[in-house]
Amino acid sequence: MSERFDRQIKYESDLDLNFAHQIASFPGGERIFDCIQCGTCSGTCPLSVYMEYTPRRIIAMTRAGFKDEVVRSNTIWLCSSCYSCTVECPKEIKLTDIMYAIKRQAIRENIWPKEFKMSPMMTGEFFKLVEKNGRNSEGWLMMNLYMKSMAVGDALKIAGIGMKMFAKKRMSLKTEKIADPAELRKILDAAGSEMELIKEGAKEVVHG
Ligand code: SF4
Ligand code: SF4
Repeated sequence: MSERFDRQIKYESDLDLNFAHQIASFPGGERIFDCIQCGTCSGTCPLSVYMEYTPRRIIAMTRAGFKDEVVRSNTIWLCSSCYSCTVECPKEIKLTDIMYAIKRQAIRENIWPKEFKMSPMMTGEFFKLVEKNGRNSEGWLMMNLYMKSMAVGDALKIAGIGMKMFAKKRMSLKTEKIADPAELRKILDAAGSEMELIKEGAKEVVHG
């Protein structure tokens, strides 16, 4: 686990003291200032051992204004939305939603850790399929992703694995549509610019 937070000396002028208020303004982020730093979230998180900063530290750093470290950390991308932290938090802080709020901020600022360079592209392709059909199709998602992100040689190298998965029915190019796409359209239109942001992710550049 990186100890960047401990190693770096920061002056107060380097900090963004408005960052916590910005996260608190997102749905679910309201109670970020109630955190008592008990560490229950980090103890219950199945992925915290792999995270650059544990969930407890993410809250502490967000409140202290370490925005740059927080939005650039791998923590927000490793979070699998299992909700353990949210369920166990004694202060009923919606930590999973806070992870999403920080991730949205990272997306706004075009920050993607190098090891997660496929994430923006996958998010964008996933969204396009759901926007079109109301449902995801794993087969088409993988096809679109690899056609878009890989050189022909690399794509051919893994084509065999893909064919085996299709043969064993672990993946399919079958698409399903929801009964009432108009209802979904209303929801997506209501989300407006947030959705455009996600679609933009499909062609986003990777930053370290
Ligand atoms: S469990 Fe809740 S109160 Fe405890 S450190 Fe985590 S977010 Fe803060
Ligand atoms: S929701 Fe994310 S941060 Fe919370 S316990 Fe699960 S993986 Fe960890």
